[in-house]
Amino acid sequence: MSKKDYNEGISFRNKISTVDTEGKRIWVVAKQPKGRFYTWRQLVGYGLLAFLFVVPFIKLNGEPLLMFNILERKFIIFGAIFWPQDSYLFALIMLLFMVFIVLFTVVYGRIWCGWACPQTVFMELVFRRIEWLIEGNPTKQKQRAKDGWTLSRIFLRATKLIVFWLVSFVIANFLLAFIIGIDEVFKIASEPISQHFTGFMVLMIFTTFFFWLFAWFREQACVVMCPYGRIQGVLLDAKTISVAYDYLRGEPRKGITQEGEKEGDCTNCKQCIAVCPTNIDIRNGTQLECVNCTACIDACDNTMDKINKPRGLIRFASEENISKGEKFKFSGRIKAYTLVLVLLFTFFITLLVTRGSLEATILRTPNTLFQMQADGTISNLYNIKVVNKTREDIPVVIKLKSHKGEIQMAAGELVVKAKETTESVFFVKLNTKEVKGAYIEIVFGIYDLKGNELQEVESTFVGK
Ligand code: SF4
Ligand code: SF4
Repeated sequence: MSKKDYNEGISFRNKISTVDTEGKRIWVVAKQPKGRFYTWRQLVGYGLLAFLFVVPFIKLNGEPLLMFNILERKFIIFGAIFWPQDSYLFALIMLLFMVFIVLFTVVYGRIWCGWACPQTVFMELVFRRIEWLIEGNPTKQKQRAKDGWTLSRIFLRATKLIVFWLVSFVIANFLLAFIIGIDEVFKIASEPISQHFTGFMVLMIFTTFFFWLFAWFREQACVVMCPYGRIQGVLLDAKTISVAYDYLRGEPRKGITQEGEKEGDCTNCKQCIAVCPTNIDIRNGTQLECVNCTACIDACDNTMDKINKPRGLIRFASEENISKGEKFKFSGRIKAYTLVLVLLFTFFITLLVTRGSLEATILRTPNTLFQMQADGTISNLYNIKVVNKTREDIPVVIKLKSHKGEIQMAAGELVVKAKETTESVFFVKLNTKEVKGAYIEIVFGIYDLKGNELQEVESTFVGK
């Protein structure tokens, strides 16, 4: 294979699109797309950015709407507080989420990457726009690069990097707000650094990371780092919807026809490559670098409009659609997968909504045996631990569900403090007739003062 072939992309599968034959980085200077998909993508992206910047300010009953405090293992999702005791629920939700992602990707490909991934949204709709604004369009940028480090280029590059740093700082603040809450972030910003040194350092680390990511690493995150991108190869099949080039219609592209051969619709204008943020030629087929951003669809549609050919030479379609010359249709397979996705999502929401407000564990007090009482009953001593996941104190009553007997609280009424774990001790007295063995299973009910059962808890009772 000649070096020329290699460079021209004939061997595109042997190398990634952002590294040349010498192993050096190819700096991607993508052109701004224009078209209906870009308009939609901007609407989705700016909607997501608004969500990111507004949500930390929204509070529900004094708590943030969303918070993922990894340090204290406290998570708030749309007002519902999750504690370390809910980790089983989290594990289940994560498992569901993984299944959801796999199924979604099998059917819809990498749509998430191009349309909703924070990396793409920030890179394409924030940082690249700033770059276009300060350093000009790709043609100007390339011209300046050819001219070398002139004073004006140094000035523009420095301005861009300062703005990138400031925007990274803003993003870091909001990311931190999702972890520790906006009030804490305000404290870090307004009080002396010495009082919040750790928080300040975390903020600086986040800022530096975002700056590095968007000023230097950029599309490499999608091409070489993102694990989701890496597993695409095993998730996509011939029926998966992706951004695809219709080679039946496009080939032979202009300029490579043999004698007597009729040209296809591809004019070889290479606009699809010019707008690609990962620097690939989609005409080579589905590639791991493609984030399904649809910029090439818009670029190609614009070319087709100019030459009065139908749009859709590059479009959303499966490999099977393209090879059979079919239009995209909602097949039975897509409907079935979508139904499973909807069911999974519903199950996921149900798990969140139906989660109990209290979580109690009742265990016999360690190293204690039973006691024979003067009234002929047998008593056991228990420890109760109750986690209150709500924002209000909840007075509770413990009752025996499985046996007739008496419960005596050692420290009076049990009030479970809001957002805390409360512990207490109580005696259970059972009539000897009720105790039919050395160990028996007993069931408690935890009730609120209105008599609503909040939880059922099993334990053991020792007698005889
Ligand atoms: S090939 Fe098209 S859809 Fe894929 S990343 Fe490039 S421009 Fe986006
Ligand atoms: S934009 Fe369309 S017409 Fe132009 S090179 Fe790409 S596929 Fe061919």
